[in-house]
Amino acid sequence: MPIHERLESVYAEVLARNPGETEFHQAVREVLESIGPAVGKHPQYADAKIVSRICEPERQIIFRVPWEDDRGEIHINRGFRMEFNSALGPYKGGLRFHPSVYLGIVKFLGFEQVFKNALTGLPIGGGKGGSDFDPKGKSDREIMRFCQSFMTELHRHIGEYTDVPAGDIGVGSREIGYLFGQYKRITNRYESGVLTGKGLIYGGARVRTEATGYGTAFFVNEMLAARGDSFEGKTVVVSGSGNVAIYAIEKVHQLGGRVVACSDSSGYVVDEKGIDLEVLKEIKEVRRERISAYADAVSHARYVEGQQVWSVPCDVAMPCATQNEITGKEAETLVRNGCTVVAEGANMPTTPEGVRLFQEAGVAFGPGKAANAGGVATSALEMQQNASRDSWSFEYTEDRLEDIMRDIHTRCLETADEYGMPGNYVAGANIAAYTRVADAMLALGLV
Ligand code: GLU
Repeated sequence: MPIHERLESVYAEVLARNPGETEFHQAVREVLESIGPAVGKHPQYADAKIVSRICEPERQIIFRVPWEDDRGEIHINRGFRMEFNSALGPYKGGLRFHPSVYLGIVKFLGFEQVFKNALTGLPIGGGKGGSDFDPKGKSDREIMRFCQSFMTELHRHIGEYTDVPAGDIGVGSREIGYLFGQYKRITNRYESGVLTGKGLIYGGARVRTEATGYGTAFFVNEMLAARGDSFEGKTVVVSGSGNVAIYAIEKVHQLGGRVVACSDSSGYVVDEKGIDLEVLKEIKEVRRERISAYADAVSHARYVEGQQVWSVPCDVAMPCATQNEITGKEAETLVRNGCTVVAEGANMPTTPEGVRLFQEAGVAFGPGKAANAGGVATSALEMQQNASRDSWSFEYTEDRLEDIMRDIHTRCLETADEYGMPGNYVAGANIAAYTRVADAMLALGLV
């Protein structure tokens, strides 16, 4: 059977097995569209049905999470852990708490994570989890009770050599603390390596908080350098204002660029002088308020309600919010306004049409699995420190992160070159990651 027909039949299999899970379908399609040349070059991948196996999670866990709010009312949420692929190491990936979470979201995120983690070159498999719990408006005690209930079930499935969760949307260091506390209590083990993103005083790693945003900025820096350019004098637009966005902005500023806009789900703010990070951190990390508060605090800034940030002209766009926020329409606007580099700080924020438009327009496009891999890579560094009961300095850890991002960038471009698609980061990332996972799966036999 010709390669493209073989891949089409795998895709049909995925559709039939995972009905209605559109985000998962989208993530699989994007990978299958890229890896044809690699499958063609290595017939053993087809013989061992690696492509079909890679699209099927090793284990899917769904569980009930009952909890009581401050008024004594009982709520039931659904918890998930998708243990997708452990050929390269223990399952590794975040937990997302957001009302949009369902099987299809967790599966897409787990699938992406397998490839992202492979690209880091570190020994970590891929997984993802979360819940449809909405942390918005919940008290600190409610968050704690929810995390404890969630871990009461999850603990039996995870472990430092099995599956190592971390944060994602709605799960930050506060939640990781409550989750770790409950894991420790139930198991009676101070098993630091079971979760990453921990606070510094109980086994966390320096730079983990900053890592995804910093890593994305380092990746853009490499993309610009590959075009003989730099951040100097560049106008940058970032979507989101959470953990990824905040630290992407910080590093872009340190590297000489100017971030003039950022957003949240209610709207966006524009600050032509460059986003003031102290103000942004105070609003988002301390007061946990909406982004509109930025325009109240900074007199020359303006707030635009109910719209996306992509109409603000920029040289570099860094989507750092959530999936599918740049469709064909937003991509067209960005291209028309002169944007030449796009790098995804979030997971799959650009739709396939958006990616196609960028690539046709000659925009350098860095997909999330490469550009935002700094978060999980630094989680792997946290696991290393936990395993050796060590604690590295900020400078040393940041240097390691920068080296890892540089290596990922090189790996993408070299692979794209090798397969005759120079400059295509999507193909480079997918093929480089796929061959690494596939080779490990072949070596481990039919398991
Ligand atoms: N949630 C992050 C990601 O999407 C980090 C996962 C981790 O550190 O395990 O890669």
